[in-house]
Amino acid sequence: MENMPYAEPWRIKMIESVKTLTKEERKKIIEKAEYNLFKVPAEDVFIDLLTDSGTGAMSDKQWSAIMLGDESYAGSKSFFNMKNTITDLLGFPYVLPTHQGRAAENVLFSVLIKEGNIIPGNAHFDTTKGHIEFRKATAVDCTIDEASDTTLYHPFKGNIDTKKLENVINKYGVENIPFVVLTVTCNTGGGQPVSMENIKAVSTLCKKHNITLIFDSARFAENAYFIKTREEGYQDKSIKEIVKEMFSYADGMTMSAKKDAIINIGGFIALRSNEIYQKACTFSIIFEGFVTYGGMSGRDMEALAAGLKEGTEYEYLHARISQVKYLGEKLKEAGIPLLEPFGGHAVYVDAKKFLPNIPQTQYPAQVLGVELYIEAGVRGVEIGTVLADRDPVTRQERPPKMELLRLAIPRRVYTNNHMDFIVWGLKKVWERRNELKGLKIKYEAEIMRHFTATFEQLS
Ligand SMILES: *Cc1c(COP(=O)(O)O)cnc(C)c1O
Repeated sequence: MENMPYAEPWRIKMIESVKTLTKEERKKIIEKAEYNLFKVPAEDVFIDLLTDSGTGAMSDKQWSAIMLGDESYAGSKSFFNMKNTITDLLGFPYVLPTHQGRAAENVLFSVLIKEGNIIPGNAHFDTTKGHIEFRKATAVDCTIDEASDTTLYHPFKGNIDTKKLENVINKYGVENIPFVVLTVTCNTGGGQPVSMENIKAVSTLCKKHNITLIFDSARFAENAYFIKTREEGYQDKSIKEIVKEMFSYADGMTMSAKKDAIINIGGFIALRSNEIYQKACTFSIIFEGFVTYGGMSGRDMEALAAGLKEGTEYEYLHARISQVKYLGEKLKEAGIPLLEPFGGHAVYVDAKKFLPNIPQTQYPAQVLGVELYIEAGVRGVEIGTVLADRDPVTRQERPPKMELLRLAIPRRVYTNNHMDFIVWGLKKVWERRNELKGLKIKYEAEIMRHFTATFEQLS
């Protein structure tokens, strides 16, 4: 299986043209964007690897499903189709649609989190952490130590260290821990999967202490692919069987459907508890909309249902994750320092090793992102000190252990020629790495500053 070449189990039916600019033009654009790639118009990007969120290509089946959308305010047929698909695939009886993943967090956390609470997890995603800290609660990272060594091979670097988790529970007390959040795959940790063994161990520990276990599930199908290909005993199971087992250990989930459900916008909460569901309904109505649409249109709920089925097919996942690996291996051959093993949805460049002379407080991963854009029109995203934000109490910078430039691959969008082009661009930046200078922040927001911060180049 491993040695057989792969090819995408689909062919291209429609294309979208992209603009090519010169390096000089891009220099002006990034200057105008004040060195924040979020402020660069998408039209001025050649290969957009900012995110794999909502950027996938829908299938003909999904586009046809769009035509079947029932736009009724209450009790839309499309809602029931989506809900039944979720219940069938993931096993949860209660489903609340939301307009995207962070909205699911907003609704669910409004029920579960109180000021002063502790929310343990594995390298919480930025919006998850944002929603926790916004409620004056604290996210505590319990990821295994192996995860922060970028070159160490571990098949499941998203795993929680159950000793750390137990210590956190003992230290703060069960009454202060409303739930544990397990992110599959772990985005912040580098798109790294969590093993079934670890899922079981975390679930057992939570059950022992009577703590709710919530999965942050954006890339649950990619996680299942890694369980199938890396974990003993799962080779012969289908992705759908593995997914079912994974969620059998959770009490609930939040989902950004913009990832593994391959749609452009949407999300949901799924739960086992009717009590939590009832309370969440109130917040859904305040924040998102009536409980059978929650910020989604009927047509998008139809596309979500179709996308969930396609996104949990092995052949699709194999082609997708193999493309990410293809990019990773080519970059590695070129000598670029990377986080290994490669993640499911992205390749992460180790900016500390790429630019050892730029201290973390001068944002080396941001510098690298800017330079890759100038060089090749490729837009990645900083997963480093800028993203880590300031400590909410001391307002000090808190440089994370890993300083990364993430190159996220949209689903079913680019060819391997694009991958080769990215490698070429990054090689050019690598050749002039000693000439690069750090950045300084000119403006930043109080929370989640990376989206809107502006920078200037240090001389
Ligand atoms: C994308 C993502 C979210 C937030 O979802 P949005 O749809 O972007 O709001 C939450 N958690 C993880 C792990 C994600 O990847």
